[in-house]
Amino acid sequence: MDLFQGLKKYFGYDEFRRGQKELVEGIVSGKDVLGIMPTGGGKSLCYQLPALMLDGITLVISPLISLMKDQVDSLNEMGIKASYINSSLTRGELNQRINEIKNNQYKIIYVAPERLTSEGKDFLQKLNISLVAIDEAHCISQWGHDFRPSYVQIPKFIESLEKRPVVAAFTATATERVVEEIENLINLKAPISVNTGFDRPNLFYQVLKVPDKLAYTSKYLQENNGDSGIIYCSTRKTVESLTKKLKEKGIDAADYHGGMNSDIRKKHQEDFIFGRTKIIVATNAFGMGIDKPDVRFVIHYNMPQNMESYYQEAGRAGRDGEDSQCILLYSPDDIVKQKILVENGTRSPKRQKILYQNLQYLIDYCHTNECLRNEILSYFGERIVDKSCSSCGNCLSESEMIDITVEAQKILSCIYRTGQRYGTAVIAQVLRGSKNKRIIDFGLDKVSTYGIMKEYTEKSIKEIALTLAAKDYIYITTDKFPVLKLTQKCKPLLKGQEKIFHKKELVYQKPASKAKAE
Ligand code: ADP
Repeated sequence: MDLFQGLKKYFGYDEFRRGQKELVEGIVSGKDVLGIMPTGGGKSLCYQLPALMLDGITLVISPLISLMKDQVDSLNEMGIKASYINSSLTRGELNQRINEIKNNQYKIIYVAPERLTSEGKDFLQKLNISLVAIDEAHCISQWGHDFRPSYVQIPKFIESLEKRPVVAAFTATATERVVEEIENLINLKAPISVNTGFDRPNLFYQVLKVPDKLAYTSKYLQENNGDSGIIYCSTRKTVESLTKKLKEKGIDAADYHGGMNSDIRKKHQEDFIFGRTKIIVATNAFGMGIDKPDVRFVIHYNMPQNMESYYQEAGRAGRDGEDSQCILLYSPDDIVKQKILVENGTRSPKRQKILYQNLQYLIDYCHTNECLRNEILSYFGERIVDKSCSSCGNCLSESEMIDITVEAQKILSCIYRTGQRYGTAVIAQVLRGSKNKRIIDFGLDKVSTYGIMKEYTEKSIKEIALTLAAKDYIYITTDKFPVLKLTQKCKPLLKGQEKIFHKKELVYQKPASKAKAE
């Protein structure tokens, strides 16, 4: 059976998708591979087809325990002998499964990475494993957005096997740095590396700062009535309250988060997948590996924690290649929420620093006036050819752009005069001439930039400061209490040799006359 016969016989396809053939051929010829493909690119086939062509067993390592059963069921339906072992099995089921595997009844076995260090390990080591496929390989990297300590054990397990199998790693999100780490940490041997690129031309990206997120969302849902869509929120509480409010407005939406009863959660997921419910409101617990082709929009009700998560979540729209929208509703409160999540998420200072750095990139994304598609692609290290994609919110924006050079100069000099020791809130308060106790106690009312932007709201000043950070005039430290510092890029702007522009409505959020100093 050659590759194309296998493709047709088992999967029913006539052609490979971009990158698949190279990866499949690489594996079958005994080479390690690294496949970087966007969500929906067709990664599974890249290890499932070789699994059928190689002699021994293929072990698929995946963190997505909840999906293993579905994946195995669909393989079985295709006539491929597959099975899984994970913590959802009872002891009896597990023993039976192990016996079946030992008796060579399966070609493909899915395991969770934790299994490689537990009691299951010895039995796995005795199998004739010809291929180890590692799904979601970015989980091995501390630099990635989804680091999982159990992934670190994978290379040790591979080394412990009598005969080294072919090792194939796959991911949908990886910056250059993460790709390097995957190669090194998994110890891939001269891998054939295929990166199909991150661009999803059918996705329209947009960042909106709306005065009322609920009003915007309900109007959007009414206007797009009949389309399937996902609304991501950063907390379970927001998921619940938003679902309730949407229902009150007569919109049929279901909620989904990790704290719900698992039967109800499963029902909501299935109702959405089969189109019985059009709208699902969810935390990031929803979606990994869910293959619903006709999701027409993904709205982020809150800013997520980093670009990788955003790309992956937004990327659940338009898997069928049809035009779809990815809208991020940004508000400054989201930054505070995400910082709390970082704080609670890890105690390791090194990891926290990484998470803050990743968060800053997304904050920059929300403040840029440049092409959003290019911002995403450049994050993943892709070379940009055209400066404008002509199909994102920024490229099509009709906002009036105004010159904010003077405002920028005032903010930059205030940062300088106050010793580059404070965050956006303090800088904005100094510029507005705030009588806040902290400002007076620190003696900041004595600096020459005190009160020179009285006519602006604190929000507007912060908005401009964050825009300056997005454009690299300001560097924001990645600490718990981030501090604004000037970069080399400031000089021409401060000397008046350069101008800077911003969307009018974002600078003047309130009529200047109504803004009064706090
Ligand atoms: P990923 O894991 O990269 O997100 P999947 O492996 O789940 O993507 O594949 C996404 C969808 O594309 C699936 O519905 C799959 O059946 C389909 N698919 C994969 N390869 C091909 C192909 N060569 N031709 C047509 N459809 C394909």
